[in-house]
Amino acid sequence: MIFLDNASTTKIYDESLKEYVFQSEQNYFNASSLYKAGSDVLKQINKARETIIKLLGGSSFDNLIFTSGATESNNMAINGVLRKNMGKLVFSYAEHPAVFNVAKELEKQGYKVEFVKLTKDGIVDEKDYISKLDGASFISIMHVCNETGAVNDIKNLVKLAKQKNKDIIFHCDGVQAFGKIPVNVYDLGVDLYTISSHKIHGPKGVGALYVRKGINLKPSVFGGGQEFGIRSGTENTCGILAFKKSAEIICKNLKSNYDKVLTLKQEFLKELTTNFNVKINSNDFCSPYIISFSIPKVKAETILHMAEQEGVLISNGSACSSKHTDNRILKNMGIDDYYIQSSVRVSFSEFNTIDEVISAAQIIKQTCSRYINILK
Ligand code: PLP
Repeated sequence: MIFLDNASTTKIYDESLKEYVFQSEQNYFNASSLYKAGSDVLKQINKARETIIKLLGGSSFDNLIFTSGATESNNMAINGVLRKNMGKLVFSYAEHPAVFNVAKELEKQGYKVEFVKLTKDGIVDEKDYISKLDGASFISIMHVCNETGAVNDIKNLVKLAKQKNKDIIFHCDGVQAFGKIPVNVYDLGVDLYTISSHKIHGPKGVGALYVRKGINLKPSVFGGGQEFGIRSGTENTCGILAFKKSAEIICKNLKSNYDKVLTLKQEFLKELTTNFNVKINSNDFCSPYIISFSIPKVKAETILHMAEQEGVLISNGSACSSKHTDNRILKNMGIDDYYIQSSVRVSFSEFNTIDEVISAAQIIKQTCSRYINILK
């Protein structure tokens, strides 16, 4: 099996799995317990918090709330800042459903919500963005797009927003960026930053929201007061500590992984585009981890299933929305429906090899060429 759907989820690192098992078997105490074994667990959770904040480029004055994953972190960030008489909320058309659908819901509830257009390269259109800053009090723009790999210039977008109004709160969904491209929340200037464990070879069901000092979030889950009262519930100790392990490993190897994955992208594209009619939707400046492309005349689902029959797993878009034919992002980039219906996504990880990606490209080419010939 050749797994090329790493933007949807990843294989857990051996070290993180070991940590998970160790914590589950030997260190299963409740972090809220008053006996020492419990308070030791709490100390470890707090240490993991500090480590991840540092890996994100934050400081000891900042906070990080552990959650069940990026969907919850995104919901927490947006709902946590809502106030009565809130100004405009600004989002981009590229946002993952875990942001986009919250925005849509808030719009229904009567909040003033606006969406920024994308350029043909899939990033936020700066002119349209600037035009939407008047009266804005909250902005949520993703770092790397999960469908195309397009990388937004978050530092510039934050600067433009804060020049307009220094009190604007800026949230960034960094799920496809953290551990894959350099991230420094201070340099970016963001107030809130979302990350997820299972996208970086950690266990599923755990994520976090970075919260800059001075940003006050309303509680999102009420209960026993864990996670500073913002997100109550017994801490997912095993998940949190295994997540921390994965974060350490992936950040340590970021540069070498990046170089490796860039070669995978180049080799895959070289093979795919040789003597084959394919439209590449992701440009050269996109994250090398993600490529979106269209094979005219073959529906995305057909490409996906033909590849699957030959042992290659790819996606027809965002994993969390892959059951819906959601063309919002490519459509916004100005891509014709003709190509959108044939668009698929491959996404790499450090575990993929050059042989695998060349083989996958050949399989996609051969199966689709056969299919197109039958149609003739
Ligand atoms: N945000 C982005 C950009 C994603 O790619 C994903 C998952 O595909 C999510 C949020 C949701 O992440 P989780 O599965 O941790 O809830």
